[in-house]
Amino acid sequence: MNNLYDPDNIFAKILRSEIPCNKILENEFALAFSDINPQAPIHILVIPKNPYIDFYDFTKNASNKQHESFWKLVNDVIEHYKVEKEGFRIITNSGSNGNQDVPHFHVHLLGGENLGRMIG
Ligand code: AMP
Repeated sequence: MNNLYDPDNIFAKILRSEIPCNKILENEFALAFSDINPQAPIHILVIPKNPYIDFYDFTKNASNKQHESFWKLVNDVIEHYKVEKEGFRIITNSGSNGNQDVPHFHVHLLGGENLGRMIG
């Protein structure tokens, strides 16, 4: 584990079942659940089950199997909501400039309506 990883962050607590989540899908290495404060009709968070702080930590240090399983679950969520054709947006916030609130790597998958321009 990255020694800067905070094991008390809220997604780590969800992974340990210390707090509940609205689980959508999971596989061996990743979990998908509803964002508690949705910004679109579909707003799902996908997280690795292993402790990575952010996108850089995950892409640098996760195993091939963890990468494969994570992106497979993102793909499964896209198919679960049948948004392949109408489209969606995937966002990952990182660090202070990215305004990342929860220091456990996650992607937001947003959809269900036209999401407008990317920023602003
Ligand atoms: P970020 O700013 O990218 O770190 O986003 C963190 C996201 O986690 C926000 O969209 C929050 O609404 C969401 N969030 C925080 N706590 C929970 C929770 N207990 N269950 C589900 N989503 C949460």
